[in-house]
Amino acid sequence: MPFLLPAIACVAVCAQDPSPPRVHSVCDISQEFTFYMDGRFHKQYLQEVGRDARNWGSLELLDLSNVNLLVLSAGDRRLPYASKAIAHIGRFAHGGGTVLVMADGAAVMPPVATLLRGFGAKLTVAAAEKPLRAAERLGDAEITYRGGTVLDLDARWKVLIRDAKDRPLLGYRALQQGWIVAGSRGLFGQSPDASDPINASWLTPFLVDCATTKEIDPKLPHRSTWVEGEKQLGPLTLEFHAGTERFADRIAREYAKVRPHLVAITAVEPSPGMLKKLLILPTGGGGFSSGARIAIGAWWGGYPKARYPMVELIAHEAGHSWVLPHPEPLWNEPIATYLGIQVGKRLGMSKAQVTLDRQIRLGRRHDPKFTKVDPLAEGAPRDLIWGKSYFVFEELERMHGPGAMAKYFREKRAALKPNRKSFTMDDCVAVWSRAVGEDLFPWFGSLAFRVDASRTDLSLEK
Ligand SMILES: [Zn+2]
Repeated sequence: MPFLLPAIACVAVCAQDPSPPRVHSVCDISQEFTFYMDGRFHKQYLQEVGRDARNWGSLELLDLSNVNLLVLSAGDRRLPYASKAIAHIGRFAHGGGTVLVMADGAAVMPPVATLLRGFGAKLTVAAAEKPLRAAERLGDAEITYRGGTVLDLDARWKVLIRDAKDRPLLGYRALQQGWIVAGSRGLFGQSPDASDPINASWLTPFLVDCATTKEIDPKLPHRSTWVEGEKQLGPLTLEFHAGTERFADRIAREYAKVRPHLVAITAVEPSPGMLKKLLILPTGGGGFSSGARIAIGAWWGGYPKARYPMVELIAHEAGHSWVLPHPEPLWNEPIATYLGIQVGKRLGMSKAQVTLDRQIRLGRRHDPKFTKVDPLAEGAPRDLIWGKSYFVFEELERMHGPGAMAKYFREKRAALKPNRKSFTMDDCVAVWSRAVGEDLFPWFGSLAFRVDASRTDLSLEK
């Protein structure tokens, strides 16, 4: 269903003669990674007018020659802006580019405050108060605002939006040839699914006005810039930039401790071609996996003070490289975290069992004996899906262990051809049956899974 809309939109766009992009934007995710800045900002505000690229590497190395808009967020306080980056961005803006800063102040000011100060703007900790007022340039624009702090702008700035006490919330300043624009974060969208393009009706034309002061050549490629640092650790490439380098080795050491446990739990190596790269992400917000590359938030879960969440996250993201290219339909995410919990247990971390017990308890709120609610049913609660998944894994281990998970992974590798198109829950139960030497369809049925042995092409015996 989610694929339907883009397909239709594409037909409409392709039918017209598309005009060349006028804006080449770069959204920076090197000072702080968020999924929103990784493409959603562009989708919400600039998709119709421009092409976007992301900057993953050190800002001072970013090639801005064919770029006319650089989008910056507050940044994470653990990563101050390098002075070379500030100088580089200054040259870009004075030379015709537009820099957009979306940020609020805080007791500990975010790193982008240092950059803004050089342009005569300060973030503050004073909360904005409604109603807001827009300058004439915005016409009678409707303003959506989700709260945040006001700015302190010197006389060279023009204010576009003020709060009830006449304090600036959004302003811009002309530089030698380009522009700097600064606004409270709550004036812009933030949803990782790009579903909240607030203020786009006036924000997009304003940004286009500023950015197109500098002409870009749409015929030249506009590509994302990857992190510049890498280090070979055996078969694994560790990836980082100048700011994240100091976090990288510590996380690589955790990975080196986690990996052998994953091999022991699953009795197999990662799937062929997987788990080649480990990217250090500037965030405490989590990580992601593409199978071949895992990305780990450098200060996830309060790391390094707290260690268990980091172990669980690394094992989770790495765990995806064991299940691909045939992810489990229902418990793709739960099985990855379950692997993380098992690694934590093997490392003697008490939080692991607590995490497991808690989720099973939350699942039982929806289905006390786990015999009533089909977790495959549409709208099944998340806690039920996760709790029931863990319960199933624990029960399989109790009845068919020790090493039930290892039996499953080994059998899955043996039974599935790499080019197999789909892997359904029926297929999954068939693999479990083969692994433990018993038809498990009735047992899964007793737990309210609507699975059916007649719908899988896999035999239940090896
Ligand atoms: Zn995951």
